[in-house]
Amino acid sequence: MYDQFGEAGVKSTVGGQPNAYAANPFDLFEAFFGASMGGFPSMDPTGFGTRRRTVVKGEDIRYDITLDFSEAIFGAEKEFPLSHLETCEACAGTGAKIGTKMRICSSCGGRGQVMRTEQTPFGMFSQVSVCPTCGGDGEVISEYCRKCSGEGRIRVKKNIKVKVPPGVSAGSILRVAGEGDAGPRGAPPGDLFVYLEVEEIRGIQRDGINLKSTISISYLDAILGAVIKVKTVEGASELQIPPGTQPGDVLVLAKQGAPKLNKPSIRGDHLFTVKVTIPNRISAKERELLEELASLGNKNIARSRTRPRAQPATRATESQVEKVVEKIEEKREPDDIWQKLKDLAG
Ligand SMILES: [Zn+2]
Ligand SMILES: [Zn+2]
Repeated sequence: MYDQFGEAGVKSTVGGQPNAYAANPFDLFEAFFGASMGGFPSMDPTGFGTRRRTVVKGEDIRYDITLDFSEAIFGAEKEFPLSHLETCEACAGTGAKIGTKMRICSSCGGRGQVMRTEQTPFGMFSQVSVCPTCGGDGEVISEYCRKCSGEGRIRVKKNIKVKVPPGVSAGSILRVAGEGDAGPRGAPPGDLFVYLEVEEIRGIQRDGINLKSTISISYLDAILGAVIKVKTVEGASELQIPPGTQPGDVLVLAKQGAPKLNKPSIRGDHLFTVKVTIPNRISAKERELLEELASLGNKNIARSRTRPRAQPATRATESQVEKVVEKIEEKREPDDIWQKLKDLAG
């Protein structure tokens, strides 16, 4: 195996010209540029030279800003100082002092390319690469622009204003075209990308276009219903707790959420998950009333009136139905107890 891929084998892979590179590196150099390149430094603009001159856009810049919770929902106008590179006006990005001439690069003799020849176990190999001195231009600045010290770009602090649209969220990125760094030699600038963070607030979580909160209500409010004050992004709002609200129920304030990004006519909801608090301690009076309620509950099936499926086993027999009718007549009594309890608790 090894023999087959000896020196001869390797040579054959470079075509019918074994040792062509090693013999005269400049054969390759000339072939590379074509015959028209004979008389440098008049660089042929239609040849390789133009490809090398592809316009390099400036660098993009990342800037992070943190928005208030409500700014992310309603949108905001933000202004911040940004440090970026701008094309030097004095030299129009060339880096050369105005009125001075460029000088032919001595490293490459104006070719813009240099040849590197390496001795390898397989023979001499040569590589053409961009001249590190002139960067491939074939010429260098003879006198630098004083304003930018030959860089062609200067660092400038600028105030940037961005309009944050309503409905953005943490991780949203805004692109500000053309506010990145200027490109080298007057090339177009890159873009500015504004990365958004959103501050959290107590009590409201964002879930896409919906907002979520947890509310605690007393067991009495859960049973009797109530109107409670809640915090929304619009400010304080009232939330109806319907009678018979269960722990874990989700109550909705429609269209009090976040607008859909780029479609602000669509707005999410604010969802409130209900927690029902059971008091650890109650007063003697409360205990008295609750025991009275408990005894009412034990005597009959009053509870099955409001939650018929809670006791599927107790089919209403004739006698039980009588009791229910009896109970309905006394209907005011338990309600009064609840109200008394509520007055005590509230
Ligand atoms: Zn300059
Ligand atoms: Zn050079």
